[in-house]
Amino acid sequence: MAEKYVYNFKEGKKEMKELLGGKGANLAEMTKLSLPVPPGFTLTTESCKRFLSEGQTIWASLDNEIESHLKELEQITNKKFSDRENPLLLSVRSGAAHSMPGMMDTILNLGLNDRSVIGLAKTTANERFAYDSYRRFIQMFSDVVLEIPKVHFETIIEKTKKKKGVELDKELDGNDLKEIVKKYKEVYLRETKEEFPQEPIVQLRLAIKAVFASWNNPRAVFYREMQGISKLNGTAVTIQAMIFGNKGDSSGTGVVFTRNPLNGDKKLFGEFLLNAQGEDVVAGIRTPNEIAELKVLMPKGYQQLKEAAKTLENHYKDMQDIEFTIEDNTFYLLQTRNGKRTAQAAICIAVDLHKEGKITKEEALMRVKPQQLEQLLHPNFALKAIEQATHIAKGLAASPGAASGRICFTAEAVEAAYEKGIKTILVRQETSPEDISGMVKAEGILTARGGMTSHAAVVARGMGKCCVAGCSEVTINEEEKTLKYKGGILYEGDLLSLDGSTGMVYLDDIEKTKPALGGKFTELMGWVDEIKTMAVRANADTPEDAKQALEFKAEGIGLIRTEHMFFKEDRISSVRRVILAGTVQERAKALGELLPMQKDDFYQIYQVVEERPVTIRLLDPPLHEFIPVKAEEIRQLAETMSLSEEKLKDRITELNEVNPMLGHRGVRLGITYPEISRMQVRAIMEAALEFKIISKIEVQPEIMVPLISDVKELVYIKKEIEDEIKKVFIEKGQTLTYHIGTMIEVPRAALTADKIAKEADFFSFGTNDLTQMGFGFSRDDSGSFISEYIEKNILEKGPFDTIDQEGIGQLVKIAIEKGRQAKPNFKIGICGEHGGDPASIEFFQQLGLNYVSCSPFRVPIARLAAAQAAI
Ligand code: ADP
Ligand code: MG
Ligand code: MG
Repeated sequence: MAEKYVYNFKEGKKEMKELLGGKGANLAEMTKLSLPVPPGFTLTTESCKRFLSEGQTIWASLDNEIESHLKELEQITNKKFSDRENPLLLSVRSGAAHSMPGMMDTILNLGLNDRSVIGLAKTTANERFAYDSYRRFIQMFSDVVLEIPKVHFETIIEKTKKKKGVELDKELDGNDLKEIVKKYKEVYLRETKEEFPQEPIVQLRLAIKAVFASWNNPRAVFYREMQGISKLNGTAVTIQAMIFGNKGDSSGTGVVFTRNPLNGDKKLFGEFLLNAQGEDVVAGIRTPNEIAELKVLMPKGYQQLKEAAKTLENHYKDMQDIEFTIEDNTFYLLQTRNGKRTAQAAICIAVDLHKEGKITKEEALMRVKPQQLEQLLHPNFALKAIEQATHIAKGLAASPGAASGRICFTAEAVEAAYEKGIKTILVRQETSPEDISGMVKAEGILTARGGMTSHAAVVARGMGKCCVAGCSEVTINEEEKTLKYKGGILYEGDLLSLDGSTGMVYLDDIEKTKPALGGKFTELMGWVDEIKTMAVRANADTPEDAKQALEFKAEGIGLIRTEHMFFKEDRISSVRRVILAGTVQERAKALGELLPMQKDDFYQIYQVVEERPVTIRLLDPPLHEFIPVKAEEIRQLAETMSLSEEKLKDRITELNEVNPMLGHRGVRLGITYPEISRMQVRAIMEAALEFKIISKIEVQPEIMVPLISDVKELVYIKKEIEDEIKKVFIEKGQTLTYHIGTMIEVPRAALTADKIAKEADFFSFGTNDLTQMGFGFSRDDSGSFISEYIEKNILEKGPFDTIDQEGIGQLVKIAIEKGRQAKPNFKIGICGEHGGDPASIEFFQQLGLNYVSCSPFRVPIARLAAAQAAI
């Protein structure tokens, strides 16, 4: 028996997404639930794969399968595919395993031709409807199958409307549409040099092939890459009997979310259009009505919609995004899927669904994407600044957040500005999939047309990007690159601010503030703490950073980079003198100036962190970062050092390194200049003891030695450190518990971790350097080629963003095993950038790390990721 490539809706279920695509699988599931779904069948993603790999041809057995399913469909609907009087019309819909909004294309009303359109007009006694359906079909078919630009068709409609003096498509009558169909066919002939195909089965085969082929169109490929879903088979193709929302004012079509996707409120949220078909709502061609109005206009349809929404939500146990169409007051479901939502809504819905008893706490936690929290942690406009800002228009609050930037009218302009580090706002009449690359890189998006479910709104919410949609108070001219508002005009490059939470549009850049987090966020994060097993600390170099981190509930500081303190303006000269000093005395003098400042730095951080653990890393920059380069700086420094400029320049040359990242840095500095380490340790301990006396709080300093490659380095520096600490204890007549540990960031250290562990109180992985040295990729220069490695599938992800489990991860694993062989309960953490990356966190959980440490703003993200990793 030939392999099966086609499934009737009755044969599928929601678990078959990989094979039937999300759309096909859910249509099957809804059919199983006895919900009103027009009948149909689905060609599998496997068939797409085979089609694409076999030179884009349809093989005989697939043709047979399609034919027999068509026969069945004819029987169920009691219509014939090529009937002249009462034709069976079809929709041809694409859908992969993951939803790709607007990425692949759909054709409606397939099967119509010059003869059956007459039949359809007669049997329905509705000429307007028949020709409206036909013109839509010609337009979609031309677009999807032959890529004839839509504007050819749109101009024809616009001209006809103008000639007639009407504004809306639905004001055109049967005769107008007949005329339009004629002109459409002329466009088709002109563009393809062929007549519009009349044979329904030919139309169907062409449509199927085009949908399959669209899998590889550049925007689909780009979207999959952006979402990290490049490994899918292909798209499924669903072929379904048509339902008509364009039959008059007792028909219509709409999109509804079972809960509010902006804030999570438990209330239907959506839009519909009377006498319209398919994509009219999403495309923003007419501004749609709010769903509540359906209750008044079509009470029966509204009631059915409400019930279906409830059934679907209870069944899927999640908020659903539903497409429906009403034909002559009869309600049909055309699609359901888990709805995209803002971070705020995701949290609210997850917490509510748990409280409603529909999902467990663990399931609730899994419903919120850690990365999504970023949206919540990001700033809003400062109230004061908003009061003074110039408000120029209001649109729909389509995706929350505050954004300011320079106006760009095209995705290309956004991309060009982004390259130069310029923040932008993408301003479009309405967006389409071609704009995605620009949407990704803009701060915010403004459209003049389209509703809450328009392309711009849906895609922006998915990206967590600020968006104001359907702002009809402004006039956008994409050709001339102008934005006109009541009272003025703006050009490309002018500054604009958007508030995606209110829909307000303002002139200029506006100051932003941090949002207040409370209520359901706090509740959910409480569950996070019940469930996670790994601690989350923060990397913080200043008291402000530390405060922010603790507000986000960091459990300590996992990394203080002391060099950041050295770079401050008032101390750089002392630091330079330490490094360039000719004698031990000179160095001691400069260090003496630094000591009180360092001490004060630590004291202030202790005041914030108190009894929580705090890991302080001894100095670790490449030396050259401190060395002056400008002539003026050199002159001044020579003066303070009472050295001739000549001599100083000689010293600078001596210290010059060809490869500073592999040079005189980390513990190597401590070994050559132990006085520097001693000064730092003295500052750490004196500050801790003084803080203890005043506050009665014992801080927990963890002194961390960077860049060890051999245990002997640690032994050497440890002796210096402990010597100095003993001195401080004697001078102060007080002691304090402390720990001395080391970073594991050189591959050799990872491989000899058993020896190192014997001398250390803890390990902390510096995965940035470990990645740099493990791959031999420079952290500072590899960006340029890594993106190409990803494009060419040599790397799946940037190894500095997500840890490379196979190689670098193995070094981490070896070091943990060896470390814990030497000391069973050895404390091990990580303080590289990967500490804030959810995918890496999951891996660290598996390896049994005690904590991760990340930048303050990533703390909530890391906490949630740690909880998810523990589930
Ligand atoms: P997308 O993935 O872009 O949402 P869909 O396949 O869902 O594409 O179809 C696009 C539009 O056409 C939707 O609004 C949908 O409701 C409508 N549509 C699809 N199939 C049918 C059908 N059988 N009858 C009526 N409308 C349909
Ligand atoms: Mg579409
Ligand atoms: Mg759809």
